[in-house]
Amino acid sequence: MPEQQILRVAVPAPLHHSFDYLPPAEASAEQLLPGVRVRVPFGRGERCGVLLEVVTAADADGRRLKRAHALLDAAPLFSAADLALLCWAARYYQHPIGEVVANALPLRLRKGEPPLPVLQRIWSLTALGARQDPLALGRAARQAELLALLLESGGSLGQEQILQAGGGGRPALQALERKGWIALDERLPAEVRAAPTSHPPLPLNADQQQAVTAVDLACFGSYLLDGVTGSGKTEVYLALVERALAAGRQALVLVPEIGLTPQLIRRFERRLGMGLAVLHSGLAAGERERAWHLARLGQAAVVLGTRSALLTPLPRLGLIVVDEEHDLSFKQQDGFRYSARDLAVIRAQRSGCPVMLGSATPSLESLHNARAGRYRHLRLPQRAGEAQPARLDLLDIRSVRLEAGLSPVLLRMLRETLAAGNQALLFINRRGYAPIVTCHACGWVAQCRRCDARLTLHAASRLLWCHHCGSQRRQEPKCPECGDADLRTLGQGTERVEEVLAGYFPEAGIARIDRDTTRRKGSLDRLLDGIRQGKYSLLLGTQMLAKGHHFPDVTLVGILDVDQGLFGADFRAAERMAQLVVQVAGRAGRAEKPGRVLIQTRHPDHPLMQRLVSQGYAACATELLAEREAAAFPPYSYQALLRAEAPREGAPREFLEEAAALAETLAAGRVELWGPVPAPMERRAGRYRAHLLLQADQRAELQRLLCAWVSQLAKLKSARRVRWSIDIDPQEMF
Ligand code: ADP
Ligand code: ZN
Ligand code: ZN
Repeated sequence: MPEQQILRVAVPAPLHHSFDYLPPAEASAEQLLPGVRVRVPFGRGERCGVLLEVVTAADADGRRLKRAHALLDAAPLFSAADLALLCWAARYYQHPIGEVVANALPLRLRKGEPPLPVLQRIWSLTALGARQDPLALGRAARQAELLALLLESGGSLGQEQILQAGGGGRPALQALERKGWIALDERLPAEVRAAPTSHPPLPLNADQQQAVTAVDLACFGSYLLDGVTGSGKTEVYLALVERALAAGRQALVLVPEIGLTPQLIRRFERRLGMGLAVLHSGLAAGERERAWHLARLGQAAVVLGTRSALLTPLPRLGLIVVDEEHDLSFKQQDGFRYSARDLAVIRAQRSGCPVMLGSATPSLESLHNARAGRYRHLRLPQRAGEAQPARLDLLDIRSVRLEAGLSPVLLRMLRETLAAGNQALLFINRRGYAPIVTCHACGWVAQCRRCDARLTLHAASRLLWCHHCGSQRRQEPKCPECGDADLRTLGQGTERVEEVLAGYFPEAGIARIDRDTTRRKGSLDRLLDGIRQGKYSLLLGTQMLAKGHHFPDVTLVGILDVDQGLFGADFRAAERMAQLVVQVAGRAGRAEKPGRVLIQTRHPDHPLMQRLVSQGYAACATELLAEREAAAFPPYSYQALLRAEAPREGAPREFLEEAAALAETLAAGRVELWGPVPAPMERRAGRYRAHLLLQADQRAELQRLLCAWVSQLAKLKSARRVRWSIDIDPQEMF
């Protein structure tokens, strides 16, 4: 008797292991291919999982296994290498394999729906068919209808269009095909077939050329492209992608959430022409899935996308690029908390291809890797073309009267900039009108009922809004405590700054860019287009404005308030502040016009600010790395954060105490435990939150502990009373 085959399936469930099933009754052995989806019984219902491997009875334990219901794919969606990478990621990030695999699937496929056809089915009239007369078909009305439709539309039409137009339905198609009047042709969609247009690359300058030739496409290697804003990093990526394509390989280019603008997509399209698949969360599910299939089947040569595009199966992967590698959006902050940047390096290593991480403000992690010789450090120290670097100055605002956060000096500079016909940009790190609403009579402050946070006033909608849990309420006309009508606002957000600027500069067009003005699809692109066309002369906004955009006419940048970065509770606060200042500053003077950057601060003598202004980001990073080393913080150590939250105040702490005790026994002194402590904002969305931080000098030590620990956490009794999650290499402590 042949040995019983057993399917090892990744089933989306909050459990860390895979699940074993017997093959579906009607499945033959040849159909049991790892990488196909399987519908399996699970609990009282059914779930769609992915077959990881087929083992024999000897490897499975003796329990009675259930039979899988059905195989959903004829051919695997993932290769063995893809599955191995996903399993690696599940282990490293301590996340259930079923959820990791589900994360890598487009939405429809996750739900068990059949894959969308990738090729377009086009029906065309044959020479014989073109000579026929619909009227002569007599009683075969459906066939006549189809024939007429094809004749009217020039001889050929996509199957979907035919069926939508009611062209006689499938029977009519079959009937005419049998008669030899029409023929089927399956083609790639137009966007993938399009030939490259004539957009020759810019001749690379010496630095760019050096960076391109430094990259060995034939083997794994990590490269840090450290180039100031406007130094032509994108040209380097394009040149490398072209070389990879010429060698018959595929390329994967990752950009931050907000960086994937139509301009960037057009720039890639113009240069590469064919085979570009764009993947991001803004696409409709169908578009996204088609692009995914094209990549997986090797039809799309280049995948350009945000974080989640990293897990796209690519059979001929030959290059990975991560642009703006310091950007936080590469780290998923919920569910499967992976870092797409870090996984990109692992993926490149496993695929034997190079990975390039690019930034004007590289993360301290990447700089550390470059210094340690793990990454090759490539530099583009100068702006490409004619552009000059912007000049940075600190503006002391101690004992200066500010109007909506604007100092008189900044206002004067704005006036001069506008008078000279140039654009100015203001960075404010808060949206809304004002972050504090208070009663002048009794001191009441508008607080969120569900969070330890104040409510922000949004004047346009007259709403008090919690930026942490999203809850909203109407702005009360009177103080709810004492009934006084003298409610005042303190501080400012983008809305208020816009209002004040409109008062000072009634003639100027003002573009405000924050989450409120860009919520609707396409609105950000409209604003950005307007800026480029000169419709606006004053641009103001939050972080969204700081990323990747080119504003050639901006000659003045004002940064309203950076001080919280100097004293933030998070040990990464200073790094983020320096990156933000340099990125915002990089928007100025990108063309032939020189730019100036004014940074308002109450701490003009702070050594970090001084160094940033006088010596730039690299010097700052060196200093910050020395501080991290002295404190044994990452990248000189490795961390994992266990978070817990619950509606009952004591529950997270009880769980974390138990978890800590368990870790203590496993740590053997090689992993440090810090906490449990309440999260910086203890109550959010009605839940109390706390965490426990683990830190080790060696990554392997931490991983060893985690492997033993995490599987036992679920068994703790106190675990049932909390929601908990583990975050490996956490980027934020909340
Ligand atoms: P980055 O990605 O580093 O910010 P980009 O690649 O977007 O820089 O280039 C910035 C600007 O410089 C763009 O307008 C680009 O067309 C121009 N540029 C880049 N490389 C060159 C070059 N070799 N010669 C002339 N202009 C260049
Ligand atoms: Zn009051
Ligand atoms: Zn709230």
